[in-house]
Amino acid sequence: MAEQVIYLNGEYVSKENAKISVFDHGFLYGDGIFEGIRIYNGNIFKCKEHLDRLYDSAKSIMLDIPLSYTEMEQALIETIRRNEFRDGYIRLVVSRGPGNLGLDPTRCPKAWVIIIVEQLAIYSEEAYRDGLVSVSVVQRRNIPDALNPKIKSLNYLNNILVKIQANLAGVGEAIMLNAQGYVAEGSSDNIFIIKKGVVYTPPCYIGALEGITRAAIMELCDKLGYKLKEEPFTLHDVYVADEVFFTGTAAEVIAVREVDGRQIGAGKAGTITTHLLEEFRKIVDVDGVKVYE
Ligand code: PMP
Repeated sequence: MAEQVIYLNGEYVSKENAKISVFDHGFLYGDGIFEGIRIYNGNIFKCKEHLDRLYDSAKSIMLDIPLSYTEMEQALIETIRRNEFRDGYIRLVVSRGPGNLGLDPTRCPKAWVIIIVEQLAIYSEEAYRDGLVSVSVVQRRNIPDALNPKIKSLNYLNNILVKIQANLAGVGEAIMLNAQGYVAEGSSDNIFIIKKGVVYTPPCYIGALEGITRAAIMELCDKLGYKLKEEPFTLHDVYVADEVFFTGTAAEVIAVREVDGRQIGAGKAGTITTHLLEEFRKIVDVDGVKVYE
């Protein structure tokens, strides 16, 4: 295994030398954006979709990414190659860069680009089979008129507060509602429920990230003939669902067996969830950009 190398503004540096300025606005204010991407068997899964979301987030917050789309893709590939990774997790961060202590982003002349490739701590196969226990939390999702959850911004405090609640409850992932009380998403995962064979997920406009895994699962539902409805639902619908699962780059498709003390379905990963996970795993090393060919 090669020594870990990090891409930092066009240079490949060791972990010890990967340092950022204390005047960086990403650090000071969460002013920046990021992506979490997976590599499966040398394939950057849904690379284009992740880069599209990155450049959309940048446009929305008026952040000028100093690399073209192609240069960014090349930087990803090169960082993975230098780390000799075939499987792992890529964290791509674009921060507004160093400025002064004021808020004004025009004082930050150049955005910073950081790419980190790491091993991923993933759920056990047992967790995929048995499902997670989850709880709903009091923190509501940012309203879209404030910091729109569609922007994958570096400001994750809303999500971190949810994670703290999840930790206090002793669960791995929690459920956030939006300001109107509809189910939005997890702290870092999208949510789906299944009732009478129909798959439901909240529309992202109510306050959820447009997850790449979410989109992949929606496509698979279409391909496999499962009826899918993108519509708002409440915690009641979650409690009485036949199956519940979260989706995310790290989590993939993970079943939920209990929510707020209510057993979901048979109390383990349901048939449709399991089928979707199996089919998802068939595409992860196919659909994307190959690093070593
Ligand atoms: N929601 C939030 C808040 C997230 O941070 C993430 C990413 N982990 C997701 C959903 C899932 O998105 P994706 O499938 O693109 O990883």
